[in-house]
Amino acid sequence: MQRPHRFRLALTCLPILLFLPVATRGEPVAVIVDTSLETGSRQIRQFAFDGDAETYFASKESPSISDHFTLVFDRPVSVKSLSVVTGKPDQGIVGTLETGVLEVSADGKTFTLLAKLTKGEACEDLPAQPIRAVRIKPTSGQADPLAVREFTIASDHPIAHFKYPIEVAVDCSDSPEMKEWAEKVARTCELWYPRLNQALQSDGHKPSSYITMRISRSYNGVAEASGGNILGSSKFFKSHPDDVGAMIHETVHIIQHYQDRSNPGWLVEGVADYIRFFLFEPGKIGPINAERAHYDGSYRTTAAFLAYVADKYDPSLISKLNTMMREGTYKDQAFKELTGKTVHELDEEWRKALER
Ligand SMILES: [Zn+2]
Repeated sequence: MQRPHRFRLALTCLPILLFLPVATRGEPVAVIVDTSLETGSRQIRQFAFDGDAETYFASKESPSISDHFTLVFDRPVSVKSLSVVTGKPDQGIVGTLETGVLEVSADGKTFTLLAKLTKGEACEDLPAQPIRAVRIKPTSGQADPLAVREFTIASDHPIAHFKYPIEVAVDCSDSPEMKEWAEKVARTCELWYPRLNQALQSDGHKPSSYITMRISRSYNGVAEASGGNILGSSKFFKSHPDDVGAMIHETVHIIQHYQDRSNPGWLVEGVADYIRFFLFEPGKIGPINAERAHYDGSYRTTAAFLAYVADKYDPSLISKLNTMMREGTYKDQAFKELTGKTVHELDEEWRKALER
């Protein structure tokens, strides 16, 4: 859940692009899927580049000559070879691109032919040249919906597979004016999904690959998440379009996937806001009132407390607390076990530090 913020910063003019993860040259190149095809049967776009040929993207409708399925790289990469396999696994020709082409682009805008697909597949070597995007396209209308099993790319610099495949499907059926905003925010949540999951990973946990994001006129809160669905208020986000962090907070709730109702609400919300304010938008948490703040103040207050304790005692504190809450074993005693001090002693110490 979200409460309206008391410490809102004036960010209304900042474009959403500012919220993209900052990539450095040493990291694998990030990829975005751009396609004109709507997803069918929750067979999401990112399954076409997740390193697993058994998973696949499926389109809802049969593609026409104007459709495309494109991987766009964060920056140009020298590609040595490229292959694509279409069609559903173990189902003959079902979902194959019967007549189509594999194309590449140096700038992400103008594409040139690399190969024609044969039996729904293509595999080609390339001369060393920077590539910004690769795509497949039908060269005639197709009889059936398309299935894209996997792109395989050999390059001089590693390209990041979708390790945590995700699709955030937008529903603005009662607030169509919010559709463009919601689609942008959905792409931001998808881009951040790997990092959010990395921060909250635990053994045996398989994150959801499909989230619905519904923006509603009739909802009177700010935003909430339950059962893999995010609900947001059109009224609130119309007047706070910069508040992408609120949707990141809800995305974190879906990743948390805590089933145990004995987990304290202040800590569940505190972890969500910790990820928001110390990973997604560092420096935006606003002032914390030392006189009134306590560790169990929830939301950003607890987030600031967790940041203090993690910084001073245990950098993996949040990961450990998350695992305990996911496994249903959390007790306040955990703070004593992890830091040597009770949560009340840590609270006193933190509040004194805030006063300085
Ligand atoms: Zn919440």
